[in-house]
Amino acid sequence: MRYLALTLPALPPLSASAAHALRTLITGLAAILSVASAAGAQQPPAPLRSPASIRPTTADLDTIRLTSGRAWRRTVSPHFVVYREQPVSGTSVTATIDSLEAAWTAAVTLLGRPVAETPRAHVFVTASRTRFAGFVPPEAKGVTTQLRTGDDIILMVQNDSVRLYSRHEVMHLVAVRAWGPSRAAPWLVEGLATFADGRCQSSTVVAMSRDLLEARPALRAQDVVERFLDLVRTERGAAYVLAGSLVDYLWTSRGREGVHRLWMGRDSLSENAILPGTGGELTRAWRMHVAQKAGATPGLSTASFLRAACG
Ligand SMILES: [Zn+2]
Repeated sequence: MRYLALTLPALPPLSASAAHALRTLITGLAAILSVASAAGAQQPPAPLRSPASIRPTTADLDTIRLTSGRAWRRTVSPHFVVYREQPVSGTSVTATIDSLEAAWTAAVTLLGRPVAETPRAHVFVTASRTRFAGFVPPEAKGVTTQLRTGDDIILMVQNDSVRLYSRHEVMHLVAVRAWGPSRAAPWLVEGLATFADGRCQSSTVVAMSRDLLEARPALRAQDVVERFLDLVRTERGAAYVLAGSLVDYLWTSRGREGVHRLWMGRDSLSENAILPGTGGELTRAWRMHVAQKAGATPGLSTASFLRAACG
């Protein structure tokens, strides 16, 4: 549920030859596995395991395909190469593709400018919260990033307790293609994706944000902007919802181009507060926008939000 390139701590770079050696090793494992299975029953192969944890700095598509777990069923749609874990029904694959393509159309429409339609992004959907350990933290529900090979990838968790975050992850992909791989602040990157999604379990991001803001009368917009990563560490779900509603307010008040200027670092936010450390015009206007837009839409119980955040 984040744009990896912006939030991962820096890892020491591997030399090209070491990275190549690792790729070769993994490809070699695949070759050994296929030979071993062809050898059949006479000589059962020694169990070979894929690495338990994959490294974003060195991973390529094979690294991801070869993670331990169920085999993949691969399907191609106009903008995506979709990998679902088998067994999976054709109906279920179609639902995944429909969800991704609808998310693509919505994101492109939101940004309102031409977006490169190719190359297709590779989307892996797993039921496991540990299959992509090292890439997707256990508390996250998805990651969108570009591999060092240049392949765009989206890794998503989907199971009985985690819905498919298509709108969120595809917004990350489209934003980078349309607005460039900028150094936009994490609150804005995640806020835009959360705003594009808009859902929060059975409720909405703005309705949940209204309740969170009411419970935090001293919280300023500037706190979300300046302390987003701290907030993610302590209150992950709340951080995303608050950032999403702040982008919602900015989209309404400054328009698409105003948000684009913030994204590109050509503009910044100011509270215009009378006293330092207190909320100013920005916070007041954000809170008013959220209260008005949320209206009487029911939010979620605290227990429900703490358990699953936005689903
Ligand atoms: Zn995200």
